[in-house]
Amino acid sequence: MLYQSTRDTNAKKISGSMAIKQGLASDGGLFVPESIPALTGDEISALCKDSYPVRAAKILAKFLTDYTYDELISDCEKAYSAESFEGGCAPLAKVRDGLYSLELWHGPTSAFKDMALQIMPRLLSRALVKNEEKRTALILVATSGDTGKAALEGYKDIDGIKIMVYYPVDGVSRVQKLQMATQEGSNVNVCAIRGNFDDAQNGVKAIFGNSEAAEKLNDAGFFLSSANSINWGRLAPQIVYYISAYCDLLNEGKIKLGDKVNYCVPTGNFGNIFAAYLAKLMGLPVGKLICASNTNNVLTDFLRTGEYNRNRKFHLTMSPSMDILISSNLERLLYFTAGSAKTAEYMASLKETGAYKISADLLAKINETFIGYYADEAETAETIKATLNTDGYLADTHTSVALCCANKYLKDSGDKTPMVVASTASPYKFAADVFKSLSGKKPDDDLEALDMLSQLTNTEITKPLRGLADRKVNFKDVIDVSDMLEKVYDFAK
Ligand SMILES: *Cc1c(COP(=O)(O)O)cnc(C)c1O
Repeated sequence: MLYQSTRDTNAKKISGSMAIKQGLASDGGLFVPESIPALTGDEISALCKDSYPVRAAKILAKFLTDYTYDELISDCEKAYSAESFEGGCAPLAKVRDGLYSLELWHGPTSAFKDMALQIMPRLLSRALVKNEEKRTALILVATSGDTGKAALEGYKDIDGIKIMVYYPVDGVSRVQKLQMATQEGSNVNVCAIRGNFDDAQNGVKAIFGNSEAAEKLNDAGFFLSSANSINWGRLAPQIVYYISAYCDLLNEGKIKLGDKVNYCVPTGNFGNIFAAYLAKLMGLPVGKLICASNTNNVLTDFLRTGEYNRNRKFHLTMSPSMDILISSNLERLLYFTAGSAKTAEYMASLKETGAYKISADLLAKINETFIGYYADEAETAETIKATLNTDGYLADTHTSVALCCANKYLKDSGDKTPMVVASTASPYKFAADVFKSLSGKKPDDDLEALDMLSQLTNTEITKPLRGLADRKVNFKDVIDVSDMLEKVYDFAK
């Protein structure tokens, strides 16, 4: 299986490991597989008997043909171990009859990015060996909170890789700061910078663009790399849990083989929901994919009108991981439905004007599968409360956006197909807003909010967020933006 850019089919095709090592294609496009491997009914039946790591290895093997099955199963067993995923890997919880919650947040940081970031660094580490890269990869991340922690947990103690995370000293919550400052691992470094998130991000960008730094690091045996969410190595592992959820529904007798299932996905960058689409293209019986957005509803508008327009007000919401106006992975959907030439046109227009419009035919084709809904802040809060009171299910703010959108779709369509909602964070990850949605009162401090939510709902704080204040602080440095590069040199010694 070879990979090519979304923007040019004539470009040289490369192996899966090379696509993971390279991240982004040289023409600015994203890597996509040249064809979609099939998933047969017999294979789905066989997967029903397998554990999550085996399901993952078998599905990844179809896409990553330059990795051996032994390599993949070894990596999947480590990534998706019972220690890392205390409550199970992507278990399916019943919300009510016909509506299920696919809980993607039982990993080391209590949010769904772990599903990809626990395995991707292992795939990258092997990619370095397979492509005879002798240097150490130095991952640089600027974070506004959650991605940094998930990356640290994913890359810690992985061979051939070091990771450095910068965060704005006053720009993250107390819980987020504690999570990063108490990070363990022999190859990790965390540093607070004086400035805001943009300062941190611009600082990292400047280091990436600094050829003198690249040379100096090269001499020391390092090259810079990013933990980018558009890397194929982060997307491929996300296909697995949609297939796994289907197997779990079969195992529980909720569906018969061949029956369709709908998925509703709280969406930001369009990565998670695109993975569900790939599962459908492989042959998983998927009906509709409900694309759920918050007030930043650029995708809802796109799926209803065919016009993507990022020239609009940006809203800060209580589902911050979905506060996005450019959904990068949508490019992959355009490629699979419109081809590379059109995709390149749309992306050029997006870059120039911040907008593009697809034809009515193409929109109709996309709408055969994708339907867009959004939930505003009041609806998100109401849904958290109503789902707990009526169904006894406690959802975080992102999951609540999806539950609200799923409810709207069910009401509008009368569709009786079983619906699986992707639950992307533990309610404890966003405890203050969940508590406020339930009680009307916002806790003063997000660390205290954990205990308050636990008492209010009589549920247990997830392991990664328990006892945070008592853990050993390993990283205390606070530096100026101008010293960020020096910090990288020190780390690369
Ligand atoms: C990243 C994230 C999302 C959005 O996923 P995309 O793949 O960017 O669409 C939703 N919820 C949570 C909690 C996230 O961290």
